[in-house]
Amino acid sequence: MMHEMSLAENVLQIIEESARTQNFQRVRIVVLEIGKLSAVEPDAMRFCFDAVMRGTLAEGAELQLIETPGLAVCLACGTEVEMQEQYGLCQNCASPRLKITAGDQVRVKDLAVV
Ligand SMILES: [Zn+2]
Repeated sequence: MMHEMSLAENVLQIIEESARTQNFQRVRIVVLEIGKLSAVEPDAMRFCFDAVMRGTLAEGAELQLIETPGLAVCLACGTEVEMQEQYGLCQNCASPRLKITAGDQVRVKDLAVV
């Protein structure tokens, strides 16, 4: 839960910065990309989002979550591997030396603003 809380606070910072540069007053919808490897629980994320946005320009905003796939590249053979969890083996050569290249982050993809 701590993880989701600090992520929600990051999201709020991004929203407030965008509000300054793009000059909007209210946010209606926040679209978040959640990497499959980011260890974020969607339910916990929604709970923390609502709590953190209370009293801000994004209070009551709808949170839409999009899960993005986890990808890694094998450092042994160079194959790109789709990852279901943070640790795994290369599907080509069974090496555990995988470097995650996508899906370990949470990103604000879109904001619908007023
Ligand atoms: Zn490999």
